Amino acid sequence: MNAPRHFQFSSGVDDRPHAVVIGSGFGGLAAAVRLGARGYRVSVLEKLDAPGGRAYVYRQDGYTFDAGPTIVTAPFLFEELWALCGKQLADDVELRPVAPFYRIRFANGEVFDYSGDAEAMRREIARFSPDDVAGYERYMQMSEAIFKVGFEELGHVPFDSILDMLKVAPDLMKLASYRTVYGLVSQYIQDERLRTVLSFHPLLVGGNPFSTTSVYCLISHLERKWGVHFAMGGTGRLVTGLVGLIEGQGGAVSCNREVAEITLNGRRATGVRLASGETMAADIVVSNADAAWTYRKLLPTTARKRWSDAKLKRARYSMGLFVWYFGTRRQYPEVEHHTILLGPRYKELLTDIFDRKILADDFSLYLHRPTATDPSLAPAGCDAFYVLSPVPHLASGTNWAHEAERYRKSIEKLLSATVLPGLENEIVTSRLLTPQDFQDRLNSVNGAAFSLEPILTQSAWFRPHNRSEDVDNLYLVGAGTHPGAGLPGVLSSARVLDTVVPNAETFAHAHA
Ligand SMILES: Cc1cc2nc3c(=O)[nH]c(=O)nc-3n(C[C@H](O)[C@H](O)[C@H](O)COP(=O)(O)OP(=O)(O)OC[C@H]3O[C@@H](n4cnc5c(N)ncnc54)[C@H](O)[C@@H]3O)c2cc1C
Repeated sequence: MNAPRHFQFSSGVDDRPHAVVIGSGFGGLAAAVRLGARGYRVSVLEKLDAPGGRAYVYRQDGYTFDAGPTIVTAPFLFEELWALCGKQLADDVELRPVAPFYRIRFANGEVFDYSGDAEAMRREIARFSPDDVAGYERYMQMSEAIFKVGFEELGHVPFDSILDMLKVAPDLMKLASYRTVYGLVSQYIQDERLRTVLSFHPLLVGGNPFSTTSVYCLISHLERKWGVHFAMGGTGRLVTGLVGLIEGQGGAVSCNREVAEITLNGRRATGVRLASGETMAADIVVSNADAAWTYRKLLPTTARKRWSDAKLKRARYSMGLFVWYFGTRRQYPEVEHHTILLGPRYKELLTDIFDRKILADDFSLYLHRPTATDPSLAPAGCDAFYVLSPVPHLASGTNWAHEAERYRKSIEKLLSATVLPGLENEIVTSRLLTPQDFQDRLNSVNGAAFSLEPILTQSAWFRPHNRSEDVDNLYLVGAGTHPGAGLPGVLSSARVLDTVVPNAETFAHAHA
């Protein structure tokens, strides 16, 4: 990392080199803070009416709903951003540990409490399958070994050249990265229920455990090492905190400003043109818009060699999500903060979602009850929830305008029959988000919830690079870039950006 240079504000003119960041998801906001600390004047341009991207906040009828991320892992990645501004995260946002991390409920009602407490985990494993305890211990050792390479070594370095990939190939082979998450877990664990419990994590970043590279087994260790946290007041507090940091650096986050095009001079990015027609010049452009969208929609085909339309069409996109946000007039105190409700099928359901692209009648759900940790997110005596169901992305041809209410009702029926009795009579407020919204609101290709699928052939060098391969002075951060989706992934993409953007001094002469 380079030391920041302090540019002068002479005669009221900000002479710092200008960086335009397209999009205010966590990747974009983290990139903005890092660029501000490096001496850039930063303008973040956001299409929506508020920052956060997938972490947008809906407020209605006295309830606060975080639209997307709720599970905060690796908090040091946030702490670093505050430290770059000479501040402390804890002064702005309280991150509270959540225990258990997840309550996993099987279709037959059996429950597994998944936590970061090694002893409690051993007891839970033994309760299901005593013979698997030793295998579990060995699996966790493997997870730690993968973490050391996959997260600590590879997650924070750029993969600009195929040589970078070749250098790490022996490590990846040693760690059996050609195996899938489910495949690796199954090497250590015999009980089918426990295989599910230990292999579902890729779904949190848009991957099918049966095809995602086993590098993602590092999440088991990452969660145990740093815990699972919730931002009091909601994830939106982290968003407003980051916006405050950017403004404190003299940068700006402007909403309702959709970028229609990245302007070019030859193969060099020179700025952006907004949908309003206005243009903005920049020394560097950083796109936090979906990487595939950035290449397909914001740059002409003639400017792209590597990320051609054909390649982007062939790429595999993560699954979609159907999300139902609802508030109840009563509380359900027996429901944990994070609950996973597994359906009757695991592999077959995932095949329907990822490969056959069929909207199945059954589902596995993630249920979020933030009021378990922070009751202020709903009126007194009430609960705020969201429930999400992984579904195929838009290539399924599902017409969500027609399907959404029917699908919501079948989820409501299942919740009412299991963990939220009488739910249909308790709802006071409700809203939906479908893959169509991911495409229309968030500019996600195919309405995918997590951009490109995290398979080995779409990871590291194979993923859109943080320094564009096609356009000079263009950089990319966020879920569709290296290292990938999820809060740790997109915050790490901004960390990688920090290592590949030019020093602000490079542009200083132009501003003298
Ligand atoms: C429902 C849900 C739950 C999740 N839960 C978790 C979780 O618990 N923990 C976790 O770690 N991860 C979770 N994730 C994943 C995580 O939220 C995402 O991977 C991450 O937030 C994506 O950040 P990003 O930087 O890629 O930007 P995004 O959040 O995708 O934001 C991109 C922004 O760019 C804007 N934009 C796009 N095009 C333009 C344009 N042309 N001009 C201007 N602006 C534009 C969009 O409006 C958007 O605001 C979840 C995701 C979803 C959808």
